[in-house]
Amino acid sequence: METGLDKEIAKVAEQVRRTDFMWAAGLSGGACGILATLANVPVFQASLVWIVILFGLIVRYYTANVNWSVPVQRAVQNQLVVFQRLRAVMNALPEPVIMLKGDGIIEMANPATAEFVGTEPEGKHMTTIFRAPAVSLAMEDALKSAQPQMVDFVISGSVDRHCRIYVTPLAHEAQDDIDNELIEDRMLVFVSDLSTERRLEQMRSDFIANASHELRTPLASMLGFIETLRGHAREDPEAQEKFLGIMQSQAERMLRLVTDLMSLSSIELNEHMPPEAQVDLLTIAEEVRAALLPVANSYDGRIEVKSIDDGEKQIVEGDRDELVQVIQNLTDNALKYSREKPEVTILIGRGTPPTFANDVLRTGETAQQISARAGLSPDELIFVQVRDCGGGIRRQDLPRLTERFYRVDVEESKARGGTGLGLAIVKHIINRHKGGLQIESAAGEGSAFTCFFRPANP
Ligand code: ADP
Repeated sequence: METGLDKEIAKVAEQVRRTDFMWAAGLSGGACGILATLANVPVFQASLVWIVILFGLIVRYYTANVNWSVPVQRAVQNQLVVFQRLRAVMNALPEPVIMLKGDGIIEMANPATAEFVGTEPEGKHMTTIFRAPAVSLAMEDALKSAQPQMVDFVISGSVDRHCRIYVTPLAHEAQDDIDNELIEDRMLVFVSDLSTERRLEQMRSDFIANASHELRTPLASMLGFIETLRGHAREDPEAQEKFLGIMQSQAERMLRLVTDLMSLSSIELNEHMPPEAQVDLLTIAEEVRAALLPVANSYDGRIEVKSIDDGEKQIVEGDRDELVQVIQNLTDNALKYSREKPEVTILIGRGTPPTFANDVLRTGETAQQISARAGLSPDELIFVQVRDCGGGIRRQDLPRLTERFYRVDVEESKARGGTGLGLAIVKHIINRHKGGLQIESAAGEGSAFTCFFRPANP
């Protein structure tokens, strides 16, 4: 197939060939004339020699038409293939990579860059794309020092993005025969988004701070009571009894916290290994109901297990103990955080659960998203929904409930024996099962926590 480039090369070759023909014809004509004048060769013979030469040149002119430009074409095309391969390598890289001219104009950028900055960057100035003084400084320094530079900067927005930029100068030796524009200094720029890393670091340090704080408070209070018991309450049996009671509840709180922390860490440790046993969720729900009956009675409440598929078994691939923990944590919360006389329903079935109220706020993944990830249809998913008839959860709290130590009302949670880790544990267990969690709430009507799982036999 003839391309524009081929036509261009053929045109240049044609010009070169015509000039060469004229020169060869002129020179050979001149040589024949000199021969005729100086060597007394008859004009006729000299002209005959020139005509033969001219004939040869004409033959060469027309036959060369076919192939003169072919080697040039091949050389240029080979270079073009190398260039295209470089482009393809750049395009294949998942992180933004940019080729910059010395003046800061973006000459080339891969699709990851356009996706990262949300606009087509080629032809624009680097500082209009990354508006951070640190970026221009890094570019200047890279050019001045001819050394790679690396800086971190923040792109401000509704959510700040922490980025790192590496600028590597690509200096060329000056060459007289090449257009200066082409050999001008270039810089290769790599950009990486460190936001997730930073967020994880922040979460880890927040977690350590929160866990230490949660453990320190009961410990400090216990130490205070020990001091009192050894001091002025030494002779006061009534005060001793009271303080020992408080100390016991503080110690129990610490035990709950340590147990939750250990279970969170062991779930996290195994999160990459999906469980393989086959478990019936309906049986588990019945067991949880039986285990939590005393708690329900203490709140003067009720727990009901309902199957939307007429009691059909709902078998999932899962870890029995972990699934018990999921349903137990959700049911326990439903009892704890509903208003008086809690009515809790554990609904089990296949597909999508019926909507439990009209004006529902929702967070988490939908059945469609979870099933698409699993390569199933939403009807094939198995769900467990724990509903209550409490006051519901506010919009701003909904997306944060599964964060470790996040509580809507810290005092209420503590008063009811909460650790702030129950939903974080639920979320991690569901992640390990490659399922999904959806939280819904309707003001004044209650909340519903729905866990979706993949069926053992889809
Ligand atoms: P906790 O140990 O405090 O119960 P969780 O992680 O289980 O911790 O729950 C986090 C917070 O979510 C609770 O403190 C409570 O404020 C809120 N919450 C959980 N379940 C419900 C519910 N069914 N209704 C209202 N609020 C809830």
